[in-house]
Amino acid sequence: MDVDATENPKLHVLFFPFMGHGHMIPMVDMTKLFAMRGVKTTIVTTPLNLDCPRAVKNLDSVPSSQGVNLDMIAKFFKAADLFQQPFEQLIQECKPDCLIVDMFFTWASDIANKYDIPRLMFNGSSFLSLCISDSVNVYEPQKKVKSGSEPFVFPNVPGDIKSTRDQMAVIYTQNEDDKLTRSVKKWREAELKSYGFIVNSFYELEAAYVDHYRNVLGRKAWHVGPVSLCNRAIEDKVDRGKKPSVDEQKCLNWLDSKQPKSVVYICFGSAVDFNAAQLTEIAFAIEATGQHFIWVVKKEKSNNEEDWLPEGFEERTEGKGLIIRGWAPQVLILDHEAVGAFVTHCGWNSTLECVSAGLPMVTWPVFAEQFYNEKLVTQVLKIGVGVGTKKWVEVVGDFVKRDAIEKAVKEIMVGEKAVEMRSRAKAIGEMAKRAVEEGGSSFRDLNDLIQQLSFRRR
Ligand code: UDP
Repeated sequence: MDVDATENPKLHVLFFPFMGHGHMIPMVDMTKLFAMRGVKTTIVTTPLNLDCPRAVKNLDSVPSSQGVNLDMIAKFFKAADLFQQPFEQLIQECKPDCLIVDMFFTWASDIANKYDIPRLMFNGSSFLSLCISDSVNVYEPQKKVKSGSEPFVFPNVPGDIKSTRDQMAVIYTQNEDDKLTRSVKKWREAELKSYGFIVNSFYELEAAYVDHYRNVLGRKAWHVGPVSLCNRAIEDKVDRGKKPSVDEQKCLNWLDSKQPKSVVYICFGSAVDFNAAQLTEIAFAIEATGQHFIWVVKKEKSNNEEDWLPEGFEERTEGKGLIIRGWAPQVLILDHEAVGAFVTHCGWNSTLECVSAGLPMVTWPVFAEQFYNEKLVTQVLKIGVGVGTKKWVEVVGDFVKRDAIEKAVKEIMVGEKAVEMRSRAKAIGEMAKRAVEEGGSSFRDLNDLIQQLSFRRR
């Protein structure tokens, strides 16, 4: 699907996002950024997503009684490899000047090299994560500790970032021959063969890690984010990923009726799927905080019965709380002045969207690289309070008790520490907006990339 071809029809960038919300949403925003600079952009996707690439359907379609599991993800990756041959044929036909392809399509680097086209990798995460991945690949600190809970520092990563093996992806803790471990090796090989990384981040947010990745590890990377900030109109903020399950006007009216910074927004992205016991715990905790809230839950209401919701919860919190069952217009909500903090699973997009809105967060990492994002928020930026999850558990997460949730929410909303974090988050949010404006760090990096690509094709 061609997005635009205006001032510079000569430069043609072809995007191939992975079919999961956390990967596709930012890549679609990225195509907009290139198109706004007059570059011809093409998004390659599956017929299921063709009608609306913002509505990401493929990974959603992977069936499971409890969200997605590792085995299914492995099968999905295997199926993703089948794109190789048709993708190569497409490249031969349309001869783009650059490929921006998700990291999961490792084979794209070989195709790019075969046709002498620069291939940029995208993996939807931060510079800190890229630095940590390198450290893990080279030094394997997780194999040098006696237990899963013994803390260690990632070698050759600025800032003494601490972690445990329990907080890492199983792909790093399994044996060498495991299928997913082999995938990690393939990602690294593809990274080394590629033209560089394109990252949804901005320099001021993680300067030490941008510098480390470029200057110490010697890799090429361009930061062009926060890409969600290219969505200025209400309809653009609403129409991201999926059609929201709530009428946006109803949501805005509800928020308009609240005091500034008085609402806690609670949402755990597109893949986390907490069990009923965890949802009950959140309900008790949020009620106990006495705060106003918007809570996004993936569990659908069936026959008006939700056995995880404490009896009388909705009656008692009427006017105070709004439960969205399904998909929320997240960026629209975060940007509303009534919202004071975000309880998040620390998916990179959610983290950056919160940073862009200038808000502090309660960090509740579940899996993927979410524990690394939490460390950036709490240890480096100091704009978040953790609920204390200790274990990486695919999709369902490490169980968190109500007292810990209540304590973290209160800490982020009231008191001296809350005021400090709020003011720091506000300052970082202003930096985020400046980064994408003309002359800002991400604006300049995107210009630099486009110039290099234009120069290369001459
Ligand atoms: N999102 C949304 N509404 C929802 C849940 C998620 O708009 O109800 C969007 C969110 O704004 C973000 C993306 O989906 O852009 C989720 O990406 P993230 O990296 O935070 O987490 P993932 O879904 O990959 O775990």
